[in-house]
Amino acid sequence: MCGFVGVIGTDRAGAAVHVAMQAMQHRGQDAAGLGTFDGKRFYLHKDLGTAVQAIPPEVVASFGGRAGIGHVRYPTIGSASREDAQPFLTRRPGILAAHNGNIINMDQLEEELRERGLFVLSRCDSEPIMLVLADELTRIRPGGHTSDDLVQALGALMDRVRGSYTVVALMELDGRKTLVGVRDPHGIRPGVYGRGPGGAWMIASESVALDALDYELVDNLPAGGVVLLRGGDEPVVRPVRDAPVRPCVFERIYFARADSIMEGGRVNSVRWELGERLAEEWKARGLTAEVVVAVPDTSRPAAMAVAEKLGIPNREGFIKNRYSGRTFIMPDQTAREAALRLKLNLIGEVFTGKRVILMDDSIVRGSTMRRIVEMVRTAGPKEIHVAIFSPPVRHPCFYGIDMPSREELLAAGFGDEEFDLRLAAYFGVDSITYLSQEGLEAVNGGRTCAACFTGEYVVPISDEERGYILSQRRSA
Ligand code: SF4
Repeated sequence: MCGFVGVIGTDRAGAAVHVAMQAMQHRGQDAAGLGTFDGKRFYLHKDLGTAVQAIPPEVVASFGGRAGIGHVRYPTIGSASREDAQPFLTRRPGILAAHNGNIINMDQLEEELRERGLFVLSRCDSEPIMLVLADELTRIRPGGHTSDDLVQALGALMDRVRGSYTVVALMELDGRKTLVGVRDPHGIRPGVYGRGPGGAWMIASESVALDALDYELVDNLPAGGVVLLRGGDEPVVRPVRDAPVRPCVFERIYFARADSIMEGGRVNSVRWELGERLAEEWKARGLTAEVVVAVPDTSRPAAMAVAEKLGIPNREGFIKNRYSGRTFIMPDQTAREAALRLKLNLIGEVFTGKRVILMDDSIVRGSTMRRIVEMVRTAGPKEIHVAIFSPPVRHPCFYGIDMPSREELLAAGFGDEEFDLRLAAYFGVDSITYLSQEGLEAVNGGRTCAACFTGEYVVPISDEERGYILSQRRSA
């Protein structure tokens, strides 16, 4: 998972990007990069750590230009090294680009690029995307590219590059500095653009980056299309390839910030509605409880909705240490477990002697939930009921969320028969209730990617490609 921003048409573009990157920090903390373009030169700096750690103020201050892009990285493929940090820069033609997503045919692309005399230096899948774009543009002409050239090159790119990708790029088109936003034909990963003061524009993974600088949200980046932005001009939206639009539903469940507006809806409201739906399904099982406690932070709106629907209180039962990382996206098991021990502390009296609903967004490996249940049990609750406001995660994601192989996904190992009973026994709780797939679709509509729940991958992926991605993740 990663987050990106791009701005154009504003003074001190580097500083603006740096601020907006911090609003995207939840999407990746391993590395960060910032680049600007003044029409003649590109400036680029990237390093390990968060935006503040990786990009010192003197670097930001030294970068010229009224256009820039930034990226915060969490590797789903490649490593957490400086070399794999984004953005990437090509010199011919000059393109500064960053992306969020996961390319599933990276091996094939690297081979095709080698045959064209182009070598990939990093293990980040952003680099081959950019090299393919540069390759397709230079096939049309060596330089002086037009918007039409870009649309033509992106058509070829969308035929060659398979997987999920939302790309932000800075380049010269039609003789003008242009901020470019591209989204794969299914629109799997998110992206928005918005209007700033004095004719400025921003592209970002989530709308909260726009909020940080008081830009006004205009629209989502078009799936299978491109947006061209220039300071002082109206946006130009060009379609490139048509396909069923399937944005990632897991963004709305877990990954995106609750205050983001994604695919037209506030993430917080989506989580609330998922909670309401879960409450109905929970009640239909004939279960009862006295208090709802959210595992912070993602599940808070859903927990409030469940409490409201069931007519019981919602209480804070955990205090989160703000200075530890998100356990699910930390790269290895030891680091994840250490982070969890640091991450949550219990307000024991909230649980003592009560029949408690413990709300969470999802269960991936199950190690986090096991430790939380162990912790809660020390407070002496009468009953523990686990409620999850998404269906069981049974299939890995190959489109940009770092999930382990199917063998490591807890729910995949429990089959269908008496699933809830056996899983409750595994956790040592009184019940476990997942939101049904129908419930998820009732809130989000069926037009999303939900492959990690259903196994129906919107971009088909071969066994070889799966093996390649999982091995790259393991080595990362
Ligand atoms: S498989 Fe799951 S996590 Fe991956 S893009 Fe689809 S919905 Fe999102």
